[in-house]
Amino acid sequence: MTQSIVRAGQRVEVETPHPRAALKGLEERLDGRVLESVEAVGKHVLLRFEGGLVLRSHLRMTGRWRVEPRGAQRKGRPWLVLRGEEHEAVLWNGPVLELARDARSVAGLGPDILASPPDFDAMLARLRAQPQRAVGDAILDQRLVAGIGNMWKAEALWAARVSPWRTVAEVTDEELHETLAAAHRLMRGRLGGASPLHRVYRRVGRACSRCGAAIRSYPQGEAARMAYWCPGCQKGGRQPSA
Ligand SMILES: [Zn+2]
Repeated sequence: MTQSIVRAGQRVEVETPHPRAALKGLEERLDGRVLESVEAVGKHVLLRFEGGLVLRSHLRMTGRWRVEPRGAQRKGRPWLVLRGEEHEAVLWNGPVLELARDARSVAGLGPDILASPPDFDAMLARLRAQPQRAVGDAILDQRLVAGIGNMWKAEALWAARVSPWRTVAEVTDEELHETLAAAHRLMRGRLGGASPLHRVYRRVGRACSRCGAAIRSYPQGEAARMAYWCPGCQKGGRQPSA
């Protein structure tokens, strides 16, 4: 059953409608990542995501996974929804849901954005080693900075007024620091239970709350993950033509 949860190798949308699940920060860290494999051992399910993140669920007595067509109507608040291209896997009553780093891949990872305090200097040093990459692409590279997901990338760049399309070389140390600090602050706030207020993420065509320009989106980087930005207050770089 679990092999069919969502075909592995797909990029998945992740939602955690249940409030107890929302506190775990899974949505922020997993949304938009490629689900690389699904392993089931008895009532344990291990979901491996790109970037070396492993989500472990155990169903205990009450939990169950259901596979539904994408966008199916449902009542109640499941713990977790993994939405693929055609289907979505829905976890109901998942009492055990833990996110861990895959020990096999920790070695190559950059400094953790959720560390307290994060090692911003080490992150900057790793980013500076890739001067020609677009900053919005670079800060998603887990070898440079570990832990920033696609949603927080968009929100942190907006907070720091940095265009995702500028190269790392075009961004000052202060701007890089501000972007990383914003990611840390926003992600920590979310873990502390604050509800996320999206300024650009999935707000294409809506007015920027800071300058009123229409939010844009465009795939970025080798993995073509969707970037969201405000062309009014995040200027510069090679912005794709509209
Ligand atoms: Zn704006």
